[in-house]
Amino acid sequence: MKRIGVLTSGGDSPGMNAAIRAVVRKAIYHDLEVYGISYGYAGLIAGEIEKMELGSVGDIIHRGGTMLYTARCEEFKTLEGQKKGIEQLKKFGIEGLVVIGGDGSFRGAQKLTEHGFPTIGVPGTIDNDIPGTDFTIGFDTALNTVIDAIDKIRDTATSHERTYVIEVMGRHAGDLALWSGLADGAETIVIPEEKDDLDDIIARLKRGQERGKKHSIIVVAEGAGSGFEFGDKIQRATNLETRVTVLGHIQRGGSPTGFDRVLASRLGAKAVDLLLEGKAGVTVGIQRNELVYHDINEVLSQDHAINLDMYKLSQELSI
Ligand code: ADP
Repeated sequence: MKRIGVLTSGGDSPGMNAAIRAVVRKAIYHDLEVYGISYGYAGLIAGEIEKMELGSVGDIIHRGGTMLYTARCEEFKTLEGQKKGIEQLKKFGIEGLVVIGGDGSFRGAQKLTEHGFPTIGVPGTIDNDIPGTDFTIGFDTALNTVIDAIDKIRDTATSHERTYVIEVMGRHAGDLALWSGLADGAETIVIPEEKDDLDDIIARLKRGQERGKKHSIIVVAEGAGSGFEFGDKIQRATNLETRVTVLGHIQRGGSPTGFDRVLASRLGAKAVDLLLEGKAGVTVGIQRNELVYHDINEVLSQDHAINLDMYKLSQELSI
């Protein structure tokens, strides 16, 4: 293999730049040529492809977002779109591709592999919802952004003696809600994987009220329902003054944490090593602090599993 490509696709996440940097630098270290494909699969189809040098990825390790931009591309879900993509890769003499993104992007990578084009997936999403890795690139940064926001909301919750419902991202996964709720001592964490009965949540709030608790933080994962709906129901059932904050896209931005920069550097470099070893159709990950890789079909056929021990702990600590 002499020439590889790299693209970012789907939702961006902090640390994607560090992963791009690692792919480019590791490839050049191994005397490979690297081409950056802008705008994900849309840019692949359109031929938005440029050679990258060592300097192309200078000064990006600390920046959020992705210097290669990202996009969603319906056309790539069709056979025709995938064939156009492969034609572009061939036109540029690219022999292997690193796709940095979430599970949707991995489905595109799976298709490329099925068509015989060697592709490696690097998990980049704040949702932490990819099987085969303990952490995805961007999760830790988003977690710390949420913690910072909840700390601030807690100040005003205390001052005004209010109940706050905070809706956090995560798509169908509750990891961001669970980790931030645990880190912030939330009274209740609502996640899609383990539906807590609303009556139980209200009973817990009432118990707190009875023992003189003046404010509460409830973290709701977007996959478990709307924060506004929870807030409404809680206010009506408890008569507690309840406010709702939907954190939204601030969770996707910002300078990546040290953890995410290191994770992205390790995973990006590992993807290049695997291409050089002749591997294809695999995703890289980290499990128990060891770099691992798994068959992409296996990864995409599994459901994401949340750590239910942590969920139980959050309940035990917020009695
Ligand atoms: P993420 O990678 O963050 O999960 P998406 O689910 O939006 O984001 O997927 C990103 C892109 O991956 C899509 O816009 C599409 O181009 C490509 N993709 C998703 N699913 C498939 C599929 N089944 N086949 C081919 N490409 C796909």
